[in-house]
Amino acid sequence: MATARLLLLLLLASAAASCSAWDISIRVPTERLEDEVVAPLIHALRPLLGSGAGQLAGLPCDSWRLGVEAHNIIDWETVPAKCEGYVGHYMLGGHYRRDSAVVVDEAVAYAETLQLAGNGKEVWIFDVDETTLSNLPYYANYGFGAKPFNHTSFINYAAEGTAPALPETLRLYQRLLELGIKPVILTGRREYLRDATEKNLRQQGYSMWEKLLLKPTSALQAGAAFKSGERQKLVDAGYAIVGNIGDQWSDILGAPEGSRTFKLPDPMYYVS
Ligand SMILES: [Mg+2]
Repeated sequence: MATARLLLLLLLASAAASCSAWDISIRVPTERLEDEVVAPLIHALRPLLGSGAGQLAGLPCDSWRLGVEAHNIIDWETVPAKCEGYVGHYMLGGHYRRDSAVVVDEAVAYAETLQLAGNGKEVWIFDVDETTLSNLPYYANYGFGAKPFNHTSFINYAAEGTAPALPETLRLYQRLLELGIKPVILTGRREYLRDATEKNLRQQGYSMWEKLLLKPTSALQAGAAFKSGERQKLVDAGYAIVGNIGDQWSDILGAPEGSRTFKLPDPMYYVS
């Protein structure tokens, strides 16, 4: 009995020590949070109410988003209705921009380590939608992906050529040009959007690309197959794909992927 009591006392003492360790490591930061100081530069905030991590039938929306970004949740058609507020907060607040900056910081750091041949054949692949350009002004009116995709209205929006640049991607683009790496823009947008897309890109600060590759208007291929096929043509033509960045896994899966791939966040839609 005495031994049991001693054991109990030891356990209680151990638990108290653990609590103490937690107390030391957990604190509420008093400094100003980055979320509050990073203003969304690419779209005006619209008022959104709700928690920062809504629940989806027991699955928190932040867990849903992680599943999406890690490509564990695939082939989904719309953002779960309960997560519209969460995704809206994520996209319009500082979180999306901060996550994008982390991706681009890594991409720039990698590019700066490359020993370039200097033969003008080293290229970096850029996607368009939610990579070079942001369609947030459009998706903010469609529940940040919670409403079913409306092909006609999106094409009308894209044809206006008014999408803002994703500033982080533009930073990478400009750094690569400085380093002597040529951008190749490869998009699932169809050829009939070439003029609007080119005008939009130039107005947003993108220029001097090696190629702007769009999907043929009548092509039936899925995005991943089309893009890997175009990358293979580049390799066959003597280009070295030193990097590849996109917001969809279908931008970066499928040989030849490129020496390194970078996945930007996009919890608004899925393209196979
Ligand atoms: Mg995209």
